[in-house]
Amino acid sequence: MKRHCRVCGAEYEYCYSCEKVHSWRALTDTADHYYILNVLMEYQGDHDAVKAYHALSKRGVNIRETDGLLPSVKMLMVEIASKVKGMNGTRKKAVPAGQAVVEKKDEKQLHSTDDAEVSE
Ligand SMILES: [Zn+2]
Repeated sequence: MKRHCRVCGAEYEYCYSCEKVHSWRALTDTADHYYILNVLMEYQGDHDAVKAYHALSKRGVNIRETDGLLPSVKMLMVEIASKVKGMNGTRKKAVPAGQAVVEKKDEKQLHSTDDAEVSE
């Protein structure tokens, strides 16, 4: 029985004994992708980008490395990355050299209340 991973779209073999031993086999081809899927589903529920970011990096997932992932998954990863970036400023440069980084130039300022109290 063939299935497609909900994270990367890869085809993988699935059988009913998989279901008993590894429940994640019902949705993804690897345990890592199942982990990503869970984090992203949670993020879709609570929109907590920081939590999602930390959960992913704890697992060793590079949020900017979205090559080969499904468009919907990629979109969420990019969204989380840009939100987290907007919060931390530009201090964090944790991208290893030699990786193709697709930088999106729509920086979202999440805390732009600094200039709210301009008195004349
Ligand atoms: Zn996968």
